[in-house]
Amino acid sequence: MSRFWSKVVHGLTPYVPGEQPRIDGLIKLNTNECPYPPSDKVLQAIAAQTTGDLRLYPDPQAAGLKAAIAHHHGLKAEQVFVGNGSDEVLAHAFMALLRHPAPLLHPDISYSFYPVYARLYGIETREIALRADFSIAVDDYLQAGPNGGIIFPNPNAPTGMALPLAEVERLLAGNPDSVVVVDEAYVDFGAQTAAPLIDRYPQLLVIRTLSKAWALAGLRVGYALGHPDLIEALSRVKDSFNSYPLDRLALAGATAALSDAAWLAQTSARIQASREALSEGLRARGFEVLPSQANFVFARHPAHEGASLAAQLRKQRILVRQFARPQRIADFLRITIGTPQQCEALLNAYDAVA
Ligand code: PMP
Repeated sequence: MSRFWSKVVHGLTPYVPGEQPRIDGLIKLNTNECPYPPSDKVLQAIAAQTTGDLRLYPDPQAAGLKAAIAHHHGLKAEQVFVGNGSDEVLAHAFMALLRHPAPLLHPDISYSFYPVYARLYGIETREIALRADFSIAVDDYLQAGPNGGIIFPNPNAPTGMALPLAEVERLLAGNPDSVVVVDEAYVDFGAQTAAPLIDRYPQLLVIRTLSKAWALAGLRVGYALGHPDLIEALSRVKDSFNSYPLDRLALAGATAALSDAAWLAQTSARIQASREALSEGLRARGFEVLPSQANFVFARHPAHEGASLAAQLRKQRILVRQFARPQRIADFLRITIGTPQQCEALLNAYDAVA
């Protein structure tokens, strides 16, 4: 370890994303990407950018994209912040809004990047256990005492289970004095968004990504929706760090994507239909499948240990995600919803190894 490193860097345990293999012929159901290509409008808009404008800096305010996002959600542009993937938006939120003496609350089974950011920014955290059925217990947050903020994904990851909007609102109503971040990376697959609550709850920050439902993981675009005061805090951090949040290709592609809401509705419906079919197929084989509102399912089989089942599926050229920790979920597989053919291939591979 370098003696020149800061103490903070010595203490970091960075997030490790799912495997991105270079090998052809693998069916990749491990990082919750969309199995379908994005809207044609995205590709056309990106192609148009490549004809000359790349020598110019992009718009540091991302005004066109913010207007498209605001329009999509029925909000105002000053309620929108954009960043290089929702991971970067989350990092800015940790830096700008969640660094307080009281602990940040998050579920004990949740997106594993949250504790990584907390470490980076020296934020104390407190894990709140999911219920026995893996749902989020709002009362436990409300009874936890003073907090420096609350963050959770909705639907939760990696369980896929969604908290109803009325429960999100109960959490906001009972927690008026610190920021509540709802990470809606997977909300477009049938869950309820908290975005309409923004006008009533100035402490609410909703974070979104174009990586999942919009099929643009490779473009790296995420955004936050919230009261203009929260957005200004995020912008101050961004402008103290990198004044050009998104490149020209990302701005053009993301703006075009949002102009094609019909594509989103159609693609999401296809994925939801495949999710229900895959869940049924897994249950028929003896799996316990948590009720998912996301583009993945979280499932375990009483006769199989999680890590070895994932390894056996990999030998059949199917990649799924398995988490060694916490122990309570070690036997679950997180399986991204692929095309109907890919889901069928997964079930066939299971039959071959079971
Ligand atoms: N939040 C959650 C809950 C996620 O699962 C992910 C994807 N790993 C992200 C945020 C980040 O997505 P991206 O940076 O691609 O927008």
